[in-house]
Amino acid sequence: APAAAEPPRPGILGRLIGAEPEASRRVLDDAMLEQLEEVLIGADMGVDTALRVTANIAEGRFGRRVSTDEIKTALAAEITRIMTPVARPMPLYPSRPQVVLVVGVNGSGKTTTIGKLASQFKAAGKTVVIAAGDTFRAAAVEQLQVWGARAGVPVLTAPEGSDPASLAFEAMTKAQESGADLLMIDTAGRLQNRADLMEELSKIVRVIRKKDPDAPHNTLLVLDATTGQNALNQVEIFRKLADVTGLVMTKLDGTAKGGVLVALADKFGLPIHAIGVGEQIDDLAPFDPEDFARALVG
Ligand code: GDP
Repeated sequence: APAAAEPPRPGILGRLIGAEPEASRRVLDDAMLEQLEEVLIGADMGVDTALRVTANIAEGRFGRRVSTDEIKTALAAEITRIMTPVARPMPLYPSRPQVVLVVGVNGSGKTTTIGKLASQFKAAGKTVVIAAGDTFRAAAVEQLQVWGARAGVPVLTAPEGSDPASLAFEAMTKAQESGADLLMIDTAGRLQNRADLMEELSKIVRVIRKKDPDAPHNTLLVLDATTGQNALNQVEIFRKLADVTGLVMTKLDGTAKGGVLVALADKFGLPIHAIGVGEQIDDLAPFDPEDFARALVG
């Protein structure tokens, strides 16, 4: 199993009670609640979630003297409560192959995540096949081949500009014939023409269902956590384009204000299967709500 994520970010509460010593206490009043709301919104938690979390923290504490530590602990507990139901690894099914469709905008980390996942599955003793379904971006196909080689997993490709659905069908046929455990299908991430992308994704789904009516078993949406509130828009968009079953949040190793994960969990409740914590093949970790909350709160 991969190592737990490093505490990825500086905490968000640093400036709430300023430079006062941890033990100092302040009355929890409207001004402090407003400050807390601002900090949470500034950390990309979204207005609705920030207001609800703040209200929950105020409950039973309003008008009392509180310490920074008490607020931090309460906030971490609130965040953990919201995140715990979505912290679920990608479910595995007995289907051969289990088909994992991977969607997301270009640059979100799809290719990297496919490579990391393939490597993890392989290490767990599974046979994996990757289909380079973004046939319009030669660079994406090359990059996926590099990751496939790193993971020791075959990558099926098609000529540039050819129909991704044909490749998906061919990959499905080969994966079935070889008895592979998993088939991961990369897809295009051009949002410029959503109607095209929707047609492309639904055609892939249509053809693989000819081979297995339950496929795809998972549709993973890869989101770049550093895009903040944009990640929320991307979920809205991709849920219209495909039947998204789970999320992978990438780039949580940087200075990302991971607060958007709380907003995502609160708003959509989609499982977060894993988090990207770096650019190397082992930099994919299970999502741990308590570690996350502690790191976010600081
Ligand atoms: P794609 O266009 O969606 O396939 O995105 P890529 O997989 O090519 O990733 C885009 C960039 O993000 C690359 O430079 C990756 O190295 C980087 N990247 C992906 N995941 C992570 C991560 O978890 N942490 C960091 N720091 N960088 C990442």
